[in-house]
Amino acid sequence: MNSVTVRVPAKVNLQLAVGPLRDDGYHDLVNVFHAVSLFDEVTAAAETGMSVRVEGESADQVPEDDDNLAIRAAVALARHAGRPYGVSLAIRKAIPVAGGMAGGSADAAAALVACNELWGLGLPLDDLMEIAADLGSDVPFALLGGTAVGTGRGERLAPLEVGGTFHWVFALADGGLSTAKVYAECDRIRAADGLAVPEPRAAEPLLAALRAGDAEALGAELANDLQPAALRLRPSLAATLEAGRKHGALGALVSGSGPTCAFLAASAGHAEEVAAALRGAGVAREVLTAHGPVPGPAVV
Ligand code: ATP
Repeated sequence: MNSVTVRVPAKVNLQLAVGPLRDDGYHDLVNVFHAVSLFDEVTAAAETGMSVRVEGESADQVPEDDDNLAIRAAVALARHAGRPYGVSLAIRKAIPVAGGMAGGSADAAAALVACNELWGLGLPLDDLMEIAADLGSDVPFALLGGTAVGTGRGERLAPLEVGGTFHWVFALADGGLSTAKVYAECDRIRAADGLAVPEPRAAEPLLAALRAGDAEALGAELANDLQPAALRLRPSLAATLEAGRKHGALGALVSGSGPTCAFLAASAGHAEEVAAALRGAGVAREVLTAHGPVPGPAVV
């Protein structure tokens, strides 16, 4: 086999509950991940060394060296297999970079699937999940797709049954937000408030709305503990969220650490209406529609 192409979806967090700051600097999280139909494509081709090229959405902000998460995934897989495999990776990005939609994690997951195939390793999903957990807390979900609750740092996953398809609008912002800086701002805001931070828990009404496929109920339950911090660092996002609500979105929130904003719509047609209104309001660099849940990485 000379090359393998894998298509991999972005994620949005339907609930992101951030627990108290732990002594090791991390937070316990409850993370309801939902994969949506916004895809990167990773092509792995046989080569002796390791290399990566990136094209598409904000490609100039993605490293083309060993820092690239897809290359790190390929290196980790070769190490796991105990052989000096090589690969040339070509990434076509559509997922916003540093946008809170786990694009780098998606590329890492896609590289694991593509190299497993290219190198004929035949490793089961469980093995890839272990490697994924070492690469980053969002990578295991990126391998799984669908909708799932993540606990711990996000790496312990329980898939969820979802009773329908949800329709989304995503407002992309200029430039990214650093996930580390957003967590640090969240800690600062909480320290200044001086309130006790509860242990994170999945919200039962949100899980019930997912099971029922009830978009209206889900819209009311969307929640992101990082949102105040993302808004503090990027105040213009408040107007973006407000514009979506004003134009009839069932729910609006910052996706993960932002700055992408996500809006839930009642149907595919309604999503197009909300998207058109957001474009007209001039509150985003670009506005896209998508649906979820969608399956994880797939060879195309
Ligand atoms: P998350 O939602 O998991 O917090 P994010 O969507 O905010 O992540 P990413 O797009 O994953 O952010 O990128 C975060 C940083 O990782 C970027 O600043 C980028 O330079 C770096 N990076 C490394 N490899 C990649 C990759 N393959 N795609 C995108 N970014 C990458």
